[in-house]
Amino acid sequence: MPGKVWLVGAGPGDPGLLTLKGARALAQCDVLVYDYLASSAIVALAPPDCEKIYVGKKAGQHTRSQDEITALIVELGRAGKKVVRLKGGDVFVFARGGEEAQALAEAGVAFEIVPGITSAIAAPAYAGIPVTHRDHNTSLTIATGHEDPTKGSSSLDFAKLANRKATTIFLMAMGNLAGIVAKLMEHGLEGDTPVGIVHEGTKPSQEVLTATLDTVVAEVERTGITAPAIVVIGDVVRERERIRWFDAQPLFGKRVLVTRPAHQADDIATRLWEAGAEPIVAPTIAIGPPDDLTAARDAVTRVRDYAWAVFTSRNGVDAFFDRLGELGRDARAFGDVRIAAIGPKTAEALATRGIRVDLVPSVFVNEAVISELLTRTAAGDRILVYRAQEAREVLPETLREHGCLVDVVAAYATRFVDDPELEAKARRADVVTFTSSSTVAGFVHNVPNAATVLAAKTVAAIGPITAQTARDAGIRVDVVADEFTVEGLLRALSAAAAV
Ligand code: SAH
Repeated sequence: MPGKVWLVGAGPGDPGLLTLKGARALAQCDVLVYDYLASSAIVALAPPDCEKIYVGKKAGQHTRSQDEITALIVELGRAGKKVVRLKGGDVFVFARGGEEAQALAEAGVAFEIVPGITSAIAAPAYAGIPVTHRDHNTSLTIATGHEDPTKGSSSLDFAKLANRKATTIFLMAMGNLAGIVAKLMEHGLEGDTPVGIVHEGTKPSQEVLTATLDTVVAEVERTGITAPAIVVIGDVVRERERIRWFDAQPLFGKRVLVTRPAHQADDIATRLWEAGAEPIVAPTIAIGPPDDLTAARDAVTRVRDYAWAVFTSRNGVDAFFDRLGELGRDARAFGDVRIAAIGPKTAEALATRGIRVDLVPSVFVNEAVISELLTRTAAGDRILVYRAQEAREVLPETLREHGCLVDVVAAYATRFVDDPELEAKARRADVVTFTSSSTVAGFVHNVPNAATVLAAKTVAAIGPITAQTARDAGIRVDVVADEFTVEGLLRALSAAAAV
């Protein structure tokens, strides 16, 4: 098999700004060669067994030269590897992707170019600065500020850039800002021309400074805003007053600890990025098979003996279908057994298997399922509760009091994850989320002094039962969702942060 190299733009930082094509290339690569600016959430999209080679800069460390990097990808491609060469922003915009593509073409190594969203446009956009606007400009120049204009070595045509109708966007300009400003003013650009500086645009660490040519150098000094940054010069910067959005969100810039199992963390992590927050994914529990699978298998084989099958979580649904699959069977095994789901996510998990549930209670706790189930069952009905090995007894007990014959089957087990870094991760967070009682238990398992570690944090629980578990462990809870889903939790957190 001949090798191939994908030159992929990772976008400016927000992992949501990677293209679909870039994500597809990443998902199938053997080797990933990546830069300093590529976001870690994007690097994590590469397969676990993929070889990851970091070629970016790191203070005080030997860095590979561009020639060495180019030689490396050519060599890997020749060796038959599927290589993703991941670069921050776009692959060509001040990124030397052109040289890498040339070398690949000359060496006869197959390649594809997957453009990325450049920080030149995206960082201003996330600051609420449109790079063109009918009221303000008719052209847009993307320039490097890397060359020192005071040394006479700059090839930039400052006379052309010094035009109020022509917006200029500088990359790598923080080191030479004073010289650039002086040159533009020398060529007649007015001192009241707006300047916007966007540091780490599109990330939860985004900082924005707005000033004018007259004031910007002093303002940079005063605020300490640094590289990496985009400098926008022109009247478009004024639009930020009206269309600022990303860094105006209530959760913007917050670091949020996500304690739920890794395979369920994607949804909340994505929503946090969208809210401008930084998820710190630190699972405290993991889902695995129960200690003994016999009962879980038997129940699947005999499911038609029951009047109702009750699923309390997506994990239970997944486990049921795993067992069914092992038996070489499919959803028809249910026949006309009625099916109840606690919570919309559980119902959704069944829906993706083609099963429409007969009962989803409007409130997502055991008690609500019970009262609705009681109205629909009679004494003597057989009920299967397919759920976690360790769970509360209220549901089966109440059904039994009602005269139902209840089989509680351990479908899966929740195990604590051992994470020696957890306390450090929690200390770095502003907000800590608990999405089930077991995530609380898993947290305390790793951080016995949880109450102290979390004392100055915002603690958010997905519902009252989880909140109570936290309080029982001495943890103060600040936010409790009133809809017991991830959306509900984030809505409650945003509302709390907005006041
Ligand atoms: N190929 C990249 C640019 C690489 S040059 C792109 O298309 O975005 C490196 C410069 O890009 C930095 O010095 C800085 O000026 C800019 N930059 C990259 N990411 C940035 C970000 N998230 N916010 C602000 N500037 C950024």
